[in-house]
Amino acid sequence: MKTALVCGAGGFVGHHLVNRLKEEGMWVCGADIKRPEFSASRADEFRLVDLRDPAAAYACLDREFDEVYQLAADMGGAGYVFSGENCAEVMHNSALININVLDACRKARVGRVFFSSSACVYPLFNQQDPDNPTCAEATVYPALPDSEYGWEKLFAERLYLTYARNHGMTCRIARYHNIFGPDGTWQGGREKAPAALCRKVAMAPDGGEIEIWGDGEQTRSFLHIDECIEATLRLMRSDCREPLNIGSEEMISINGLAREIALIAGKDISLRHVPGPLGVRGRTSDNRLIRATLGWAPSARLHDGLVKTYRWIAGQVAATEAAGER
Ligand code: NAD
Repeated sequence: MKTALVCGAGGFVGHHLVNRLKEEGMWVCGADIKRPEFSASRADEFRLVDLRDPAAAYACLDREFDEVYQLAADMGGAGYVFSGENCAEVMHNSALININVLDACRKARVGRVFFSSSACVYPLFNQQDPDNPTCAEATVYPALPDSEYGWEKLFAERLYLTYARNHGMTCRIARYHNIFGPDGTWQGGREKAPAALCRKVAMAPDGGEIEIWGDGEQTRSFLHIDECIEATLRLMRSDCREPLNIGSEEMISINGLAREIALIAGKDISLRHVPGPLGVRGRTSDNRLIRATLGWAPSARLHDGLVKTYRWIAGQVAATEAAGER
């Protein structure tokens, strides 16, 4: 039986990945500092560990794994990453996790290692036009990420690439672009735009108003979690040594995203623009390289993923409100 370790298995992507690996019949170990929030992990074994501690990382690799997925990171949406208040923690925590997990994989002679980098590595100067951002893989240098989170991801990419070169390891690197879907953080400050907007719309009355950070004209693209997992597995099991974008090319403004969610909810909602942390003016995935290399492209439209996500978050909001009234 093939075996996998998923670091960050208590988080959004890691939890979905564990489910998918179990469906494939693998033996799966999950590792995280916390358990998944919304449903129990299907991992055969779940280790509650702090991967900033080298001893904990080495202990997780105490058996042979065919595949290790390194998704653990100190991470959140714009409110967490772009506020400027968490930068030291983000860099310190995520760098330690990456250094520890990767070296433990080297020592344990793991077959394949996957690392989840981010679209946040791309330079600020290529993402100032909301209608025309440039995020092709080769444009990452000269580097100027717009956040310390992005700088740490870039450092970690180089770490994985260097270990592959110097230690003969097989490492695969994805640059995820805004992954969303059910079972993800939807409140508390670390949630990302689709979840935050679904929550705001779900909580607003018909004819009500929701807040949007900035003018809402900044553009992004969003990839549903099921598509992300499919692309992740294809990349992991490919012979592609370079980082690849995993995202959608269906670009939409934040105002457009909010209106789409309101439509799905069947509510008439107006938008009130307020100051808030924003990020770059425009960003979308460039999928030319992944299409050519892996033959992968998203199979569904943004709308389809938003319908599933809105339903799930509206259910969470209703359950939370009902619990509050009891
Ligand atoms: P997440 O925050 O839901 O999951 C990350 C997990 O890492 C969490 O469960 C957290 O508890 C765990 N973790 C943090 N510190 C730890 C520690 N010291 N020891 C052990 N575990 C620790 O994030 P996610 O959305 O599932 O993202 C997964 C990965 O993909 C992350 O590396 C993230 O940076 C990257 N990524 C995600 C997106 C996205 O849109 N979700 C976009 C780009 C990149």
